[in-house]
Amino acid sequence: MVEELDPFKIAQKQLDDAAAIMSLDKQALAILREPKRVVTVNIPVRMSDGTTETFTGFRVMYNDARGPGKGGIRFHPEENVSTVKALAAWMTWKTALADIPFGGGKGGVICDTKKMDAFELENLSRSYVRALAEVVGPKKDVPAPDVYTTPQIMAWMMDEYNKLAGGSEPGFITGKPVEIGGSQGRFDSTAMGGMYILRNAAKMAKMDLKKARVAIQGFGNAGKFAFDIANTMLGANVVAISDSKGGVYSEKGLDYDKLSAAKEQTGTVQGYKGTEDVSNEDLLELDVDVLIPAAIENQITGKNADRINAKMVLELANGPVTPDADKILFEKGILDLPDFLVNSGGVIVSYFEWVQNNSGEYWTEDSVYKKLDGIVTKSFNDMVAMQKEYKEKGKKITPRQAAYIIAVDRVAKAMKLRGWY
Ligand code: GLU
Repeated sequence: MVEELDPFKIAQKQLDDAAAIMSLDKQALAILREPKRVVTVNIPVRMSDGTTETFTGFRVMYNDARGPGKGGIRFHPEENVSTVKALAAWMTWKTALADIPFGGGKGGVICDTKKMDAFELENLSRSYVRALAEVVGPKKDVPAPDVYTTPQIMAWMMDEYNKLAGGSEPGFITGKPVEIGGSQGRFDSTAMGGMYILRNAAKMAKMDLKKARVAIQGFGNAGKFAFDIANTMLGANVVAISDSKGGVYSEKGLDYDKLSAAKEQTGTVQGYKGTEDVSNEDLLELDVDVLIPAAIENQITGKNADRINAKMVLELANGPVTPDADKILFEKGILDLPDFLVNSGGVIVSYFEWVQNNSGEYWTEDSVYKKLDGIVTKSFNDMVAMQKEYKEKGKKITPRQAAYIIAVDRVAKAMKLRGWY
């Protein structure tokens, strides 16, 4: 049978699976299987050559039982509504597992940022906000960065929203530059949260990270900083890393500063002196201790999961491991830590940013990281405790199933209390 790779069908399958294990109320499941709101917009954008190009954009608010929608905006040439729905569902589980007062949302625009200049990107960012002004806002649905969106893009979007709102509303969007209300520590918070999880998981698995070999797929908001922090904070040896064009491998280990400087010049990590080029697919199958998929969804599937050689998979991207692959990794005894735990650092520090914006009181980087560590470590411990609880009842569940059970239970309880079913 051909494996289902539609991201939203995958998200529903994961939910159904958890619902069956925890015997979730059928009425709650019916609400949770579909997003609360899906908006598609047509966005005319003035381009640098004077013509107007029309882009398609989306904003999905999946569930807001626990608080306003929350989630990033992706600018991607292959964006589609199914992916945005899946990502919004995963945001719902992410905020619930972290136990922060938000629901889940996500946005996207079909566009290729590599072919656009700053003028066009600014126009697109502002037009996106104008098109969706009715459904987003600090108390409705709070956007943030994601694949190919940056603090600068958040700044333009905030400015546009403020013009429409007629006042200062910094809490409308997170991931802003610190100069205009961004939080200290937000820029590398996704990676930082993931590295705290890696530290906790290594301790549990009795893996010495100072001797560990790590491969990272992706060099964006998540992968790039994971590379740096894995080296400096954990003392691990990053032997392979890739970007969208391909990757490099070095038995001796890679140097973050030198490789990032080279990528700035050439646009890719490939071809760096003293390293061997590897494809994005081959990188996943390297014989390493820790594999970190940090790019996009559907990277480890039923097709290649049995060729994964890592002892641990740390899902820093959203949706990199499919349900078929999940089973194979579990049977192989590979510890696969789920995306909505591993990459929750981004939205957790986004929450801190929103709190700081709303209160007007700003925190130091040190205090942001400490609070972040506290939250992700609690999520990790909750997940392990849930696995233990089921094991004692005679049922072995995966880390993903355990995390789902916690998150879904929290959202279902909130809906019940509000009288949704
Ligand atoms: N885009 C990030 C994620 O997928 C961050 C979302 C946010 O900060 O709201 O978790």
